[in-house]
Amino acid sequence: MKSLVLTEPHKLILQQRPVPVPGPGEIQIRVKAASICHTDFFTLNGEYPGCKYPTVLGHEFSGIVEQCGQGVKHLKPGDRVACLGYVYCGTCPSCRRGLQNGCRRCIGIPFHMDGAYQEMICIPAVIAYPFDELLSFAQASLIEPAANGYAAADRAAIHAGDNVVVIGPGPIGLLALQAARFRSPASLTMLGTRRERLELASKLGATEVINVGETDPCAAVMDITDACGADVVILCAGTEDAWDLAGRLPAPYGRVVVEALPPTKNTRWSVPVFDFTSKSISYAGVSGYTASQFEATLESVQSGKIDVASLITHRFALEDYKEAFETSEKRKGGAIKVVFEIGKDRFNPISYQALNNLSGTIWAAKDNILRVLGVKDLD
Ligand SMILES: [Zn+2]
Ligand SMILES: [Zn+2]
Repeated sequence: MKSLVLTEPHKLILQQRPVPVPGPGEIQIRVKAASICHTDFFTLNGEYPGCKYPTVLGHEFSGIVEQCGQGVKHLKPGDRVACLGYVYCGTCPSCRRGLQNGCRRCIGIPFHMDGAYQEMICIPAVIAYPFDELLSFAQASLIEPAANGYAAADRAAIHAGDNVVVIGPGPIGLLALQAARFRSPASLTMLGTRRERLELASKLGATEVINVGETDPCAAVMDITDACGADVVILCAGTEDAWDLAGRLPAPYGRVVVEALPPTKNTRWSVPVFDFTSKSISYAGVSGYTASQFEATLESVQSGKIDVASLITHRFALEDYKEAFETSEKRKGGAIKVVFEIGKDRFNPISYQALNNLSGTIWAAKDNILRVLGVKDLD
């Protein structure tokens, strides 16, 4: 099978590898779609602490079950599945409390095991969840990042009537925004710098969008919140400016949830201690999601409460990985989510080049029309 192997930092090679065989409790999946994540670049650059090499990137993926190992009950060959981006032990104190993303023996993809930028993968069946036929494989690959956004909204404990601010209209920010929206906030404000992303945030449910390059964001948030400040700030941008801004927006008893990777693993940022204590502000980090948050996200995506289709702007065959990574990293053609469609004919001009040039509107329209018509994805 074809496998895109990261042999060492900065070195990606498309290799032929033997097809993995599922062990007890495992399933073998034919990968259909895997989307590129910001974390991939962190790993590509050798910035992720403790990452094994060689490895195969790709922790946001979906596919079809080909084979089930011994003892697998809840899945069968032919099932369409989306998967967690990590494996948990199920028995440690965190797992027993349902906080699987805090698992003491967590096996992260691709840091400790190979990911999905390859034609086949074997994973423990417990991390795979079946999804319905109306969701395309590309959309299903975005359930994983959507679960991160969902977890951020959960971590912020948003109540109906809260004033919520999301900083950073990247993929996770746009997904967290949607997860916050259906918790009925009084206002839902997106702060960012790129006009097209802010327009998309409006379309996805932001009640206000502020371009921080043009408008003073603190004054704008005070205006929107009747001079109270934000009850919740979800930080989805990993810059010092964004971190600094997040600390200046909360109302008394406000919560700042940080769902962003800093530029490097050694980055240190300062906290405005006086505001932090005098206004009783809480700061909370969030990394990943629990199994039940993933399941809830899957349901929200399937029912249309979270729109992932609008985020998919580009698709590539695995063979065209250089172009795919460049498109994602440099946000060429307004790229938001770049998805590998694995096992499809890369030379089909309708599938790739032509539609990529028209960018995401066309992909989203195609997926949404099929969905409204109730036509199952034809892969
Ligand atoms: Zn990711
Ligand atoms: Zn555990």
